[in-house]
Amino acid sequence: MSPPATGRPSVLLGLVGSGIQASRTPALHEREAEELGVCCIYRLIDLDTLGLDAGALPDILTAAERFGFAGLNVTHPCKQAVIPLLDELSPEARALGAVNTIVLGNGRHMGHNTDWWGFAESFRRELPDVRRDRVVQFGAGGAGAAVAHALLTLDAGEVVIVDTDAGRADSLAAALCARFGEGRATTAPSPAAAMAGADGVVNATPLGMAKYPGMAVPAELLHPGLWVADIVYFPLETELLRRARALGCRTLAGGGMAVFQAVGAFRLFTGREPDAERMLRHFAGM
Ligand code: NAD
Repeated sequence: MSPPATGRPSVLLGLVGSGIQASRTPALHEREAEELGVCCIYRLIDLDTLGLDAGALPDILTAAERFGFAGLNVTHPCKQAVIPLLDELSPEARALGAVNTIVLGNGRHMGHNTDWWGFAESFRRELPDVRRDRVVQFGAGGAGAAVAHALLTLDAGEVVIVDTDAGRADSLAAALCARFGEGRATTAPSPAAAMAGADGVVNATPLGMAKYPGMAVPAELLHPGLWVADIVYFPLETELLRRARALGCRTLAGGGMAVFQAVGAFRLFTGREPDAERMLRHFAGM
C-alpha cells in the first residue's frame, strides 16, 4: 500500500479476466477500504473489452507493476495461464495449480489462491454441523479443484467427483488423493451411483447461471436428507437451490464463497483485516 500522500493511505487494484463487467469484486474492495480509511481504486481489466486474450498477461503484469498496482485478482481464462509469470506461489496455489490473487511489489509477483478458502469459510459459517462422510461434487474445473480441496480440508471423508468430461474427473480425483490420501477422492460411473449414500452435494459446474440454465444434479436424485451447496452466484438462487429448499434440504449459496475470496485477497493486498460481516452485508445489498 502507498503511504498517505493526501492524508490517507491508498491502494490501486484490478481484476483481469474475460466477461467481468458485472463483477461485484471492485465494489466489495473499494467499499471495505473506504470503511477502513484507505483510498482504494479497483479497476476492471477486461480482456474482452480490450480485444485481448491470456497472451497479454505478461504486458498486463508489467504495466500493473509500473503503474503502482498493489495487486491483481485474476479470473477465467487466466488462473492457470498466469502461473509461469509469477516469482512465487503460496502452497495452496501451487497445490491447486491456480491463482486468483497476485500481490505485486518490489519487482516480485506472488501468486495466491483464496477461492478454496472462500468456499471453506462460507461452508464453516453456514453448514458447520452437517455430516460429510460422503460428498458428491459436480464439476471438476478450476473452481471445482478449489472446492474439493476445501471439502477435504474440512474433513469430508470422501469426495466423489462427477464431470461430463470423465478425464477431468479422474485427474482431479488423482490429484486430490495424492495430497489428502488414497480413497479421499473418487469418481463414479454415473450421477446415480455417485449420489447413492451421499450426505451432501455441491454444484461446481456453470449450470444454473443465467447464461447456462438448468442443473447438473439430476432432480430425481435430490431428497430431504441431503445438504446442497451451489457455487454459482449469478443468480444467487439457482434452480438447484430452489428445488433443494422446496424439499427441505439445508442449502449454501455461492455468494459466500465470492465474498470470502475477496476477504482473503483484501487482507493480502492491504495487510489490513477486513470486516467480513460488513462485506457480506454489502454484497447482500448489491
Ligand atoms: P470450468 O469451465 O473450468 O469447469 C466447469 C466444469 O463443469 C467442466 O469440467 C465441465 O466439464 C463440467 N460440467 C459442465 N456441465 C456438467 C454437467 N452437467 N455435469 C457434470 N459436469 C459438468 O469452470 P470453473 O472455473 O470451474 O467455474 C464453474 C462455475 O463456478 C462458474 O461458472 C461460476 O459460476 C462458478 N464460480 C463461482 C465462484 C464463487 O466465488 N462463488 C468462483 C469461481 C467460479
